[in-house]
Amino acid sequence: MLDSHTLTQYRPQAESLRGHIILITGAGDGIGKSAALNFARYGATIILVGKTLAKLEVVYDAIEAIDNSATPAIFPLNLESASEHDYTSMRDVLSKEFGHLDGILHNAGELGPRTPIENYSAAAWQKVMQVNVTAPFLMTKALLPLLKKSKHARIVFTGSSVGIKARAYWGAYAVSKAATENLMALLADEFEASDNIVFNSINPGGTRTSMRAAAYPAEDPSTVSHPDELMNRYLFLFSKENNASNGQQFDAQPKN
Ligand code: NAP
Repeated sequence: MLDSHTLTQYRPQAESLRGHIILITGAGDGIGKSAALNFARYGATIILVGKTLAKLEVVYDAIEAIDNSATPAIFPLNLESASEHDYTSMRDVLSKEFGHLDGILHNAGELGPRTPIENYSAAAWQKVMQVNVTAPFLMTKALLPLLKKSKHARIVFTGSSVGIKARAYWGAYAVSKAATENLMALLADEFEASDNIVFNSINPGGTRTSMRAAAYPAEDPSTVSHPDELMNRYLFLFSKENNASNGQQFDAQPKN
């Protein structure tokens, strides 16, 4: 068992992700954008998945501008409306293009309304659960054949403190993040005997993004970490050095 402080002490070697093919959802903005750029700096080939093509193109161009970076791929997909067929098509495209997959960062997220359950609309509930839980389930299921072909596949889900301990008015978001932790733990258990696939989750903690600003409109953004400050911790989870964790929940900003 590793603890979250292992992540905060990690200093990646140059080229540590060279040759690794990693898919990142929500790669056009916030934490996912930062992960895409940072993983590419360490040599990874990034498959950029997200809703807004224009944002993915900006990240694509920024990766191409990094010296010696591997050419990324863009895969626009709306996780709210994607069907199981869309994920199997994704698998077929990636299989043809890359042959295998070394990692997935399930990062895309939908906050939904911050309102009491009494007022929470069924439509908002459905949307949050679809994007935060059903989409990672369908994507992981469809891409398992490609992950199984990797020497060391790392799948990382994104949690939240309200997924560990619910707080009033966080609605479907809190419930979806609890479900995310359980999905991760269930997969980790199912693949416990595998020597090449591990599943973990990371709670980024308060991070300066549009989602954070929507959740805490009165907060001064400069008081929370920039996504880039967390990236060594994310890099650790995808690194070869991470060979002792499976089914663990990590905090990117652990309390002392
Ligand atoms: P963000 O800046 O709002 O970015 C969210 C990303 O998810 C965007 O790239 C967005 O794409 C994508 N996305 C949303 N709905 C989508 C859909 N239907 N289909 C495809 N992509 C979709 O949020 P963030 O703060 O970086 O959050 C990243 C993850 O960290 C989330 O899982 C969030 O729950 C978690 N988290 C964040 C914090 C924090 O303080 N920021 C704290 C705890 C957990 P578009 O831009 O194209 O819409």
